[in-house]
Amino acid sequence: MARRPLDIDVAVVGAGFAGLYMLHRLRGLGLRARVFERGPDVGGTWFWNRYPGARCDIESVDYCYSFSGDLLAGWTWTERYAAQPEILSYLGHVADRFDLRRDIQFGTRVTALRYDEPGNRWLVSTDAGDVVTARYCVLAVGCLSSPKRPDFAGLEGFRGEWYHTAQWPAGGVDFSGQRVGIVGTGSTAIQALPQIAKQADEVHVFQRTPNYSMPAQNRPLPPGELREVVRGYGERRRAAEQSDAGVPVAPPERSALEVGPLERRRMYEAGWRRGGINALSYAFTDFFTDERANLTAQEFAREKIRGIVRDRAVAEALCPAHHIGTKRTCVDIGYFETYNSGHVHLVDVRTSPVTAVTPRGVATTAGEHALDAIVFAIGFDAITGALLEIDIRGLGGRPLADKWSRGPCTYLGLCVAGFPNLFMITGPGSPSVLSNMVVSIEQHVDWIAGCLGYLAGRGLDRVEASAAAEDAWGRHVTDLAGATLYPQAPTSWYVGANIPGKPRVFMPYVGGCGTYRRECDEVVQRGYAGFVLGADDGRSPDIATLPVPL
Ligand SMILES: Cc1cc2nc3c(=O)[nH]c(=O)nc-3n(C[C@H](O)[C@H](O)[C@H](O)COP(=O)(O)OP(=O)(O)OC[C@H]3O[C@@H](n4cnc5c(N)ncnc54)[C@H](O)[C@@H]3O)c2cc1C
Repeated sequence: MARRPLDIDVAVVGAGFAGLYMLHRLRGLGLRARVFERGPDVGGTWFWNRYPGARCDIESVDYCYSFSGDLLAGWTWTERYAAQPEILSYLGHVADRFDLRRDIQFGTRVTALRYDEPGNRWLVSTDAGDVVTARYCVLAVGCLSSPKRPDFAGLEGFRGEWYHTAQWPAGGVDFSGQRVGIVGTGSTAIQALPQIAKQADEVHVFQRTPNYSMPAQNRPLPPGELREVVRGYGERRRAAEQSDAGVPVAPPERSALEVGPLERRRMYEAGWRRGGINALSYAFTDFFTDERANLTAQEFAREKIRGIVRDRAVAEALCPAHHIGTKRTCVDIGYFETYNSGHVHLVDVRTSPVTAVTPRGVATTAGEHALDAIVFAIGFDAITGALLEIDIRGLGGRPLADKWSRGPCTYLGLCVAGFPNLFMITGPGSPSVLSNMVVSIEQHVDWIAGCLGYLAGRGLDRVEASAAAEDAWGRHVTDLAGATLYPQAPTSWYVGANIPGKPRVFMPYVGGCGTYRRECDEVVQRGYAGFVLGADDGRSPDIATLPVPL
């Protein structure tokens, strides 16, 4: 006998930072919600990425929720940049404190979402065989949650062990006495190398593109300092929300080109000593927009690498050439210093490409590197990967994959025309990965909760981005990016360049968190301008016909 589908108000996919807070807000609205999570527990990014050295690169006190004063005051961050186990415990604590687990179905992958137009409901299918119908659907699937698979010829015949950093064994890995290869030199490898090098006998780092990395200047967080932060938290968080990157740093006021070389150096040195992802980018106004200004920061960063790495050839190979900041800037604890250890070797695969994984190790055009283990730190199918892994079909059965075949298009990075009642958290076209993502997640969740509350208050139950609003938003996002140096980074995952066949479109919104928030708020103030609102009975309010505010 066919099972009757479970009918709920909202289906949420994903139980990371985004899904957990979304569930909490939905409950507050009195809605029946269920979260589907493919992992066995909460945490998202921080559940999966357990590789050695994993930690946040936004300060712990900013990389956390702000919605509950009690939560804030009741949690102790022990380091300036929390390590993965601490962030995972924090998210577990949030789930416990707000009793969230009872509405989360773990170990369940959502495989398909179909919009049933006559019923105005989403049909949710899962790999566990569930059939659920939901009025609304929120995709909290994460921007960096679809790991790129290693596609090296011969991998299946490798006699050692291999690991992907985003699917790290829960019990950890002991590399003592081993020869380890690390493939990739992005944020993850930069965090992992110093830790793996402490254990392994030999480490070979396979680098295609060198990346800029700023020192974390990590340190323990004394309880007194944390108390001070919590006391002034409201102001701190408002500053973060209004900033470009979602962090409470005063915006720069001067151009890098209007000050002399000594003053420039003083500013960069101060940033380097302060450390963190924005160490240099917050020094001057034109860091992201003027090639000459950006070059001054590039030269400073390269000089630092040359000052740290003793072997001149290795130092040169580690010096990036792209505009600094246009690919994700990394944050490290002793990354460049690690290359001064005799047992750590850099393999430049631009000059000698990898030809295959062999039973004994990794072969490049220059020879074979014998290895006992390979660590793939090769990143993700970012921003759209996890969304498109679900077979999502909107009005007329149109697949989202079809609509996005030439790159993602959204309205505000929140909704897609032709896909009513479907929301994305930190979707393409929003600040997402260019920001402190917890600040962006809270903003999106609050916006979605506000929208659902608005609909419910007016007896409405249908919201869809208009095609005109979506087009205008797409142009806006592209124009903003075009006025910066971002689209010039040829190998960036911001443009999908790490995934063969992926459309090369600059996906995030570069206008900054504060400006973006104001744009989203304005849409609301204008009665959800750019959206078409309606009800099952066909009513639609006049307010929804207001023009798009762009
Ligand atoms: C190593 C690493 C370090 C990072 N550090 C920072 C940082 O310092 N600062 C920062 O701002 N951001 C950082 N990020 C980005 C990070 O992803 C976000 O900050 C944040 O954790 C995202 O939360 P989320 O809930 O949106 O997504 P995620 O944490 O990715 O959670 C999404 C969840 O959805 C689940 N899921 C996906 N698809 C399905 C499906 N079809 N069915 C069921 N479940 C599904 C996944 O299993 C996952 O648990 C980092 C990312 C990585 C990988």
